[in-house]
Amino acid sequence: MSEDCIFCQIVAGDIPSRTVYEDDTVLAFLDANPLSPGHTLVIPKTHHERLNDTPADVAGEVLSTLHELVPAVEAAVDAPASTVAFNNGEEAGQEVPHVHGHIIPRFEDDGGRPIHALVTDSPDLSDGELDAIEADIAAGLE
Ligand code: 5GP
Ligand code: ZN
Repeated sequence: MSEDCIFCQIVAGDIPSRTVYEDDTVLAFLDANPLSPGHTLVIPKTHHERLNDTPADVAGEVLSTLHELVPAVEAAVDAPASTVAFNNGEEAGQEVPHVHGHIIPRFEDDGGRPIHALVTDSPDLSDGELDAIEADIAAGLE
């Protein structure tokens, strides 16, 4: 547990939450400032700042919980779709530094936008630049 982490305090029961699912590894609860009805957060119970810091088995549990919860959340609020996303790091908009997946139910004409709307001036990358990025990512996995 990280003493000054809001989500660790929720896990510890020191801050109340509207919990929709819990097991030994994962906790899911309603977002306190929902972007739409049913906006739900899924977190590991252990403190890891970003996906990058999260052990693979724990990250797998978070993903499988998201997988299980998405249809339940959509059904609960009669949503035909949802945006499922992580703000992974401060520069990406992550405000609470304890990794969490968002399930944001979406509705026709809800005024929300797709993930592609996050960036308005996308880069125009050459084939050479794309080749280098492709190779660097693959090399980083070795
Ligand atoms: P981020 O911007 O870090 O991806 O999202 C953090 C989310 O946590 C926000 O949507 C915010 O509304 C939610 N949040 C922050 N503090 C609390 C809290 O104390 N309780 C709950 N349930 N949600 C919180
Ligand atoms: Zn934490």
